[in-house]
Amino acid sequence: MMTFSRRQSKTSRYVLEQMKIYKVLIIVDNIICRGRKMKTIKPLLLMNDDKLSGLEKRAVLNGANELLRIAGANGIAILDMGAWKDRTYLKSDNTLREYCSVDWYMQEGRRSSQKGDQINADVISHHLTFEPWRETKDHYDLMTITSDMYSRGTNFVIGLAHKGIGTLISTFRFRGLNDYSKYECIKTETMHELGHVFGLLPEYRTQDVEDSLGKHCTNLCIMRQGIKLPDDWVRMTNDRLIYGALCNDCRADLRNFFL
Ligand SMILES: [Zn+2]
Ligand SMILES: [Zn+2]
Repeated sequence: MMTFSRRQSKTSRYVLEQMKIYKVLIIVDNIICRGRKMKTIKPLLLMNDDKLSGLEKRAVLNGANELLRIAGANGIAILDMGAWKDRTYLKSDNTLREYCSVDWYMQEGRRSSQKGDQINADVISHHLTFEPWRETKDHYDLMTITSDMYSRGTNFVIGLAHKGIGTLISTFRFRGLNDYSKYECIKTETMHELGHVFGLLPEYRTQDVEDSLGKHCTNLCIMRQGIKLPDDWVRMTNDRLIYGALCNDCRADLRNFFL
């Protein structure tokens, strides 16, 4: 509310725009805060840019399926939209219509970038959060891109996630690995980011946690933070294949999200 008051001192047009955003924020917040069932059981929409390979695609799909299985979230349908383009994705002047194709999200991420070829992940993430149809057709988003991306204050990120909303993942930093490692690491990364989307690590969790670009687990678990790419993720992936994906605490917290 304080932020909003401060914004009211700007020009009236700006205020109007902010009010629109503020309204949307309230709506999204309501969806998140409504009854638990409403909030957590909704479809998971997969989208990707058209350069994603078959192997990368399988890794994302299988990662999503495996995490949902561990979560016991049987009611969540995975809808694979691929390199999605709505029928109306082009305007009459041949420019891309807002929110109507993966290309548009990518264009916005590229256009707002201050780091050359790197995509601005915050901007795409923001647009995924404020998709106009989220209010009527609520869903989780899982968008996978092959370009490198960054978030404010970072050199690069491989994933950004918002609880209850969705995640944006980049496969770029795994491109140098052999097919086997690449597949397994992208699977780990997908499960990790979806873990965040499904509430990991929750506020109430205080044991075996660290704050490293968000709250992460310190157990033998895919919810650890991995800063060094790809080494940390290769190690975490090997651990996943030997010991399983989630530690007991994270598994319990994940299942709790869907109860
Ligand atoms: Zn994380
Ligand atoms: Zn854990």
